[in-house]
Amino acid sequence: MELIRIPVLSDNYIWLLCDEGKHCVIIDPAESQPVINILAANEIIPVAVLLTHHHHDHVGGVAGLLKKYPDLPIYGPEETRNKGATHIVNEHDVVNVEQFYFNVIGLPGHTLGHVAFYQAPYLFCGDTLFSGGCGRIFEGTAEQMFASIAKISSLPDDTLICCAHEYTAANMAFAKTILPENQVIDDYYHKIIQLRENNQATVPTVLQTERKINIFLNCHDIDLQKNIGIKPNSIPLSSVFQQLRGYKDNF
Ligand SMILES: [Zn+2]
Repeated sequence: MELIRIPVLSDNYIWLLCDEGKHCVIIDPAESQPVINILAANEIIPVAVLLTHHHHDHVGGVAGLLKKYPDLPIYGPEETRNKGATHIVNEHDVVNVEQFYFNVIGLPGHTLGHVAFYQAPYLFCGDTLFSGGCGRIFEGTAEQMFASIAKISSLPDDTLICCAHEYTAANMAFAKTILPENQVIDDYYHKIIQLRENNQATVPTVLQTERKINIFLNCHDIDLQKNIGIKPNSIPLSSVFQQLRGYKDNF
């Protein structure tokens, strides 16, 4: 398998996962033309589009792709039906096209119908988990988002987090304010700044790394709880998460 990352708009990534036979699936096409260009230049045949949720910067390219490839199946949750989805998916479904077998994981929170597509080790998780951070809670509750992130965290260490935005630098800057004494976070922040100064992408990232540097995966951390004014272990972890997400919203 080969993973291709296409940067579009101000900070979105469209992902392509390709097999040895040059078939590929396209995940969250924010735009169509950059995808069509890459497919043509590399003689890749698209076999499916996967949509994680209904936001425009994830589905905006569907119409253009269908114009070019009218028979292309578009897989997405119910909330993407009127955004061009032709095959509605639900949690526990398996999307099988050519050699691809994706497990559908329900991740409500950012939107209510948000899903991820997982074919080990690749996880296409849209706007749920980012490197060093997580998505905003627009439609669901903090409890739902916390449970969704816990679901991702339960996947194997080598899972590749293929998220839809380049937000890592801002996420790590926030993390530093929450855990200023944490050397691992500080080191990662500087590594990310260096990458971005050289105009390099910071994702995909490995779940094992995220467990160390992503504060939203560490709501159980006593220092984290103390630093945001919570008496250690006095409230549910989902409430710690909610408070942390609230601070990030205003950062
Ligand atoms: Zn979104």
